[in-house]
Order: sequence, then structure tokens, then C-alpha cells
Amino acid sequence: MATEDAHTRRQLLKGALAGAAGLAMGSRLRTLAAAAQSTSAAAGIVRLNDDLFVITVPGEANVVAHTGAGGVLLVDGCSAGASDALMKAVASLPGGGPVHTIFNTHWHPEQTGSNDELGQAGKTIVAHENTRLWLTTDVTWPWNGKRFKRLPKIAQPNKTFYTTGKLDSGIQYGHIPDAAHTDGDLYVYFPRQNVLAVGDVISGQGWPVVDYTTGGWIGGIVGGLQRVQALANEETRIVPGRGPVLGMKDVKAQAEMYGTIYDRLSTLLNRGRGPGEAVAAQPTKEFDARMGNSEEFVRRAFESLWAYLSPDA
Ligand SMILES: [Zn+2]
Repeated sequence: MATEDAHTRRQLLKGALAGAAGLAMGSRLRTLAAAAQSTSAAAGIVRLNDDLFVITVPGEANVVAHTGAGGVLLVDGCSAGASDALMKAVASLPGGGPVHTIFNTHWHPEQTGSNDELGQAGKTIVAHENTRLWLTTDVTWPWNGKRFKRLPKIAQPNKTFYTTGKLDSGIQYGHIPDAAHTDGDLYVYFPRQNVLAVGDVISGQGWPVVDYTTGGWIGGIVGGLQRVQALANEETRIVPGRGPVLGMKDVKAQAEMYGTIYDRLSTLLNRGRGPGEAVAAQPTKEFDARMGNSEEFVRRAFESLWAYLSPDA
């Protein structure tokens, strides 16, 4: 396990160095300090392989980019405001070219902000059918009143599926039906590079958003983490929607943590407790030092149980 850790860290570091230098300077000969300084406001790029990268525009969700002779395939596309920065980063990739295909791992604006531009350019937008349906309707989150406008038809996914699919390039994709984050979550698997992109099915950075309005729930988080273990192997690099690239060890640890929290919240629900009482019971207390304040997460996770488990829901 320790060697795996070191291995992953080394790859990340190497990737970050190569990516940052390549992006900002067009040269890998510059010093780390110079590269870090000049990319502070630009996208960070982690190189996973000769033709596979993770692009992170500051403040935005991760994007996986696969380069090839026919152009670039993306998994997710940032929010609309960051689409230009993303496309600049894509163009700077070694072997980069025009985007031909984008996957939406789910409907959230942090993933679908480049759909409009790519759809207008006639590119392929792949998503689960449920994701397309959410993008054809306005969605309001009841807990904060936030409203999401439907996308224009041209920006909606134009190639949808229900279970699994495979591209000519060998890239595989499929539904993650546990509703870890939404009911349209998908994975994209790059077999040659052994890289699995899972969007917000796994959070690599802090507590996740439990979007029960569009199907997500705490039981689905646990189910999704188990399913990812079945899709991956010990060497697979797993790219979450946010945060650093993960390994199987991280996924197992998360499955255990969310399993514990799920059990505690279910017990509270069965005792007739409400979201406020669930927060007061501190069901995440041994994890908070590492994960951060959990109040929002616990509320949403508890409310998500109502939707799934409550007999009168
Ligand atoms: Zn999301």
C-alpha cells in the first residue's frame, strides 16, 4: 500500500510538472517555480498518460481530456464561464486538436457549460438519457431555492444511452445506477490507460452535494463507491469530479466511511428524528477533522433518506 501511495504521488507530481510547464511555457525546461507562478490563474493539467490528461480550471470541476488523431474527447466541460479557459487548455495539450466528443457525467452546470458551444459546432454530446431529460427542464433545489434553467436544444446531449456503450476507440462508458449524485451518473473507462472517470459519483475534495432533487441519495453514494470498486482494479486511476486522482485504496476508505454514516442516519430516521436532530447527533464526528464541516452534507443526506426510505414519502 505504501508503495502504491508513493507511486501515485510520484505520477501526480510528474504529471503536474509536465502539464504546467507544457501549458504555460511550451517547454519542460523551465523551473518549477516559474511554471507554478505563471499557471496560478490558468488551468492545471495532470498528465495521466501520453494521450490522457486531467484539466482543472481554478474553482471548476475536473475535466478528463483524451487526445487522438481525430481530435480530443472530453469527460465534462466546466461551467459556461470557464468554457473558454478550458478550450485554451485543451488546445495547449500535446497532440491536442478540436474537440469531437464530450461526455456529461451528469446534468449539473459545472459539467455541462461547454455543451452550447460544442453542440453548435455539431460535436457529439454523450450522456445518460436521464441527464438529457434533466437538461430539458428547469430544476429548483428546495433547500436553497437555487434555480437551474434548461439548456437550449442545441446544447442538450445528442447521443444518449441507458446501460453501457463503447466507442470505436475502445473507450467504454456506462450508467452508475445507484444514484450516488444524480439518477443519470455515468463513468467513462479508458482501458489502455486503466483510467476511470466517475464525475461526482465520488468526491475527492470535501463532503459531496447530495442532490436528492434529481435522484441522488446517501445510500447511492455507498452503492456508487461499491460499484466503482467492481469497475476498477488495484492499479486503476480514478478521476473524481473534484480533487486529486484517487486509487482503489481511497475508494475503499470512502465506502467504509459513507457506509458508517449511512447506517447512523438510517437509525436516526427509524427513530423518527429530523434533519436538525441528525446534525446534532454528529454522525460524522470522527471524520470532520479531515473532511471539514459536515452540517450541510448531513442535512441533505438525511433529507435524501426521506425520499428513498420514508414510508410516507
Ligand atoms: Zn454535480
